[in-house]
Amino acid sequence: MSDAARRGIPFVMTGASGVGKESLRREAAPALDDLTFSISATTRALRPGETDGVQYHFLTPARFEALIAEGGLLEWAEYVGDYYGTPRAPVDAALAEGRDVLLEIELAGARQVRETLPEAVTIFVAPPDLAELERRLRGRGTDDEAKIRKRLARARDEIAAVREFDYVVVNDDLADAARTFEGIVRAERARAARLPDGAVARFLQTAADV
Ligand code: 5GP
Repeated sequence: MSDAARRGIPFVMTGASGVGKESLRREAAPALDDLTFSISATTRALRPGETDGVQYHFLTPARFEALIAEGGLLEWAEYVGDYYGTPRAPVDAALAEGRDVLLEIELAGARQVRETLPEAVTIFVAPPDLAELERRLRGRGTDDEAKIRKRLARARDEIAAVREFDYVVVNDDLADAARTFEGIVRAERARAARLPDGAVARFLQTAADV
């Protein structure tokens, strides 16, 4: 069946910083064609190895606040002393062109997306346990003690909200978690309810010709 009129699916992935969302996405990407990653804006400092415009658009607080005022963000939140938000235009464009989009955002942002894009599929990525998460955050060595504590507190709040999500993926074994994530994306793409009306009509037409 043709999918010319198909709208893209917004996928929202939420999980504590340090839980391995980026690794999960990279591991799953080769098996998932055409999943557009939304590049967020943030006011936090670059970490070693990060490049402006790749992991994030790194903005000043003034520029970020201007974006909020202009309505340029699909959602935004404050997280451990910095702003994070999803630029609206690239997401709107991708969905209109039929491309599926992946947003990696924290809980407050995921709640906003659920309001504005009710068709969004929400996935919670959980650590095997909080001690493991703490170990990963410390191992990364990019945050001071106070920030690590704040990030762990946010992680606790997010885990408590896990039942708001459509799916949960426990990132214990990375390869295994990636297969689960791929399965979710494939199943959502296969939902009959997502078929555009035109595709059903065309299918019936060609079937009648046989
Ligand atoms: P990090 O500083 O570790 O890169 O990200 C901190 C938290 O901000 C993570 O939970 C991450 O998912 C979240 N985050 C990243 N981009 C966005 C965004 O555009 N919006 C929201 N609400 N959260 C974001």
